[in-house]
Amino acid sequence: PLQTRNAVVTGSTSGIGLAIARALARDGAGVMLNGFGDAAEIEAIRAALAEECGVAVLHSAADMAKPAEIAAMMAEAEAKLGSVDVLVNNAGIQRVSPIEDFPPDAWDAIIAINLSSAFHTMRAAIPGMKARGWGRIINTASAHSLVASPFKSAYVAAKHGIAGLTKTAALELATHGVTVNCISPGYVWTPLVEKQIPDTMKARNLTEAQVINDVVLAAQPTKRFVTVEQVASFALYLTTEAASQITGANLTMDGGWTAA
Ligand code: NAD
Repeated sequence: PLQTRNAVVTGSTSGIGLAIARALARDGAGVMLNGFGDAAEIEAIRAALAEECGVAVLHSAADMAKPAEIAAMMAEAEAKLGSVDVLVNNAGIQRVSPIEDFPPDAWDAIIAINLSSAFHTMRAAIPGMKARGWGRIINTASAHSLVASPFKSAYVAAKHGIAGLTKTAALELATHGVTVNCISPGYVWTPLVEKQIPDTMKARNLTEAQVINDVVLAAQPTKRFVTVEQVASFALYLTTEAASQITGANLTMDGGWTAA
C-alpha cells in the first residue's frame, strides 16, 4: 500500500486519469488531481475522494500546455503533500485532420500537452525521487505510441515521443529506485470516445452498434472497450514492489490491436 506516498496525476478530472487517481487514493496515497471542468463538480470529486480514502486530495487547474503553470503545480504538490513519489502523466487531447489541413496551433497544443508536459513534470519530480531513492513514473501513452492511424499526425507523433521519453528516463533513473513505464491502451470507454459516437452515427448513417463495432473498434480484435478501471489497476500494479523490475517498458492493454 502507498500509505506514505503521494501522487500527481495530470488530466485526472475525467476518464482514465480520474480512475488512476481514485485507485492510488484508495491504496492510501495523497493525490494532486489536475485538469479542467466544472469547478463545483471537481470540488465534489475531490472532497468525496478525500472523505472516502482518508488521504489528502488536492486539485490544481494548471494548464499542461504552460510550463510555468506545471512548475507551480509540482511545487504546490511537494509543499502541501510533502513529496511526489508517483507521477502519472496522463493529460491528453486529440485532433483529427489531414497534415496539410492540420492547424499549426493544434499541432503545438497536442505536442505541448501530450508530450512536453511530461518532460516538465519529470524535471520537477526527479530530484525528490532520487533523494528518497524511490519513485514511480507512469505515462499514459496509447496504441498510437506503437502504430499509426491516418489523420492523427500530432497525436501519433506525441505518443511515439512519450514512449521514447519513457525509455530515456528509465535508463537515467535505473539505479535510483525509480521506474518509468508507459501504459498503451487501445480504445477505452471515456467521455472522449463516447462523445464521438452520435456524430459518427449521423455522418455515416450507421446504428450505434455498427459505429462501435465497425468504426471505433475496427482495430481492436477483442471488439470490446478497455475500461478505465482496468487501466487504473495496471497503473496501481506498477507502483508495487512486485513491479520494481519493470522499467522502460511500453505496456499494451489494447485488446490485441498492436498484435495485428
Ligand atoms: P478525457 O478527455 O476523459 O480526460 C482528459 C483529461 O485531461 C481531463 O481531465 C481534462 O480536463 C485533462 N486535460 C485536457 N487538456 C488539459 C490541459 N491543457 N491541462 C491539464 N489538463 C488537461 O480523456 P481520456 O480518454 O481519459 O484520456 C486520458 C489519456 O489517455 C490521454 O493521454 C489519452 O491520449 C490517453 N488515451 C486514451 C484512449 C481512449 O480510448 N480514451 C486510448 C489511449 C490513450
